[in-house]
Amino acid sequence: MESGLYIVATPIGNLGDLSPRALAVLAGADLVAAEDTRHTRRLFAHHGIDSRLTAYHEHSDAAAAERLCDRVAAGEAVALVSDAGTPLVSDPGYRLVRLAQDRGLPVIPVPGPCAAITALSAAGLPSDRFRFEGFLPAKAGPRAARLAALADERATLVFYEAPHRVLETLEALLDAFGGAREAVLARELSKAFETIRRAPLGALRDFVAGDADQRRGEIVLLVAGSEAAEPEIDAALGQLARELARDLPAKRVAALLSDFSGVRKNQLYRWLLEQGN
Ligand code: SAM
Repeated sequence: MESGLYIVATPIGNLGDLSPRALAVLAGADLVAAEDTRHTRRLFAHHGIDSRLTAYHEHSDAAAAERLCDRVAAGEAVALVSDAGTPLVSDPGYRLVRLAQDRGLPVIPVPGPCAAITALSAAGLPSDRFRFEGFLPAKAGPRAARLAALADERATLVFYEAPHRVLETLEALLDAFGGAREAVLARELSKAFETIRRAPLGALRDFVAGDADQRRGEIVLLVAGSEAAEPEIDAALGQLARELARDLPAKRVAALLSDFSGVRKNQLYRWLLEQGN
């Protein structure tokens, strides 16, 4: 196997979701760095893999990343896995990948399951644009502030949530976005009690409040983007924007006129691009 740091996605529930390539890489690697070696041992046992395991988690220090990179530099194949899904997606690995790149070592992704993408694929919400927000802050104040900042986002929002917080989070989503906004609870994906439920936020909150089983297991929450109508770019604003865009980059014009007109920067920027600026 070629030397490199392999970033290997593993199943998020159904162990059969390990791809043949991921299996070959994990079986052939000189060393597999795992978030939790006991957890990964179960995956290895299921697939008959006996590669050497070492721990690499969010508390691992810089020296641990250096040691893994030293092994790649010495010609070994080192694989990184997390407990489930794609490493680096709300999981450790970011510093290790950067270090390997900075040392000029090959970083080779081996794609596979990811809870956010799996949920999006079956949610029935617009998926042409989505915004992955990972875990919301656990405390009410910072969480409400984050949600307020997302209230006008037009892309579908994707959150990870712990089961004991799901109800509280649904309440916070309701406060921030209103009960009519469509949302999806995607729970226990690829497992026995998989649930994918699309409903307005108010009804989804009631559904989860009324059934304790919906507050168990692993959960992705998705919320439809805002449909608030964008303000119009009137003729005077449009002319000003075009004039300015002769001398300034479109991004700068959008920023300048956004403060002055109240029209969002993104909308002005998109409009300028549509005009050929
Ligand atoms: N790296 C992983 C990925 O690619 O999806 C995510 C790791 S993050 C620490 C764990 C969170 O992912 C869980 O709290 C849950 O929100 C979500 N998750 C993982 N597996 C899931 C599943 N089978 N069903 C629903 N959500 C899942």
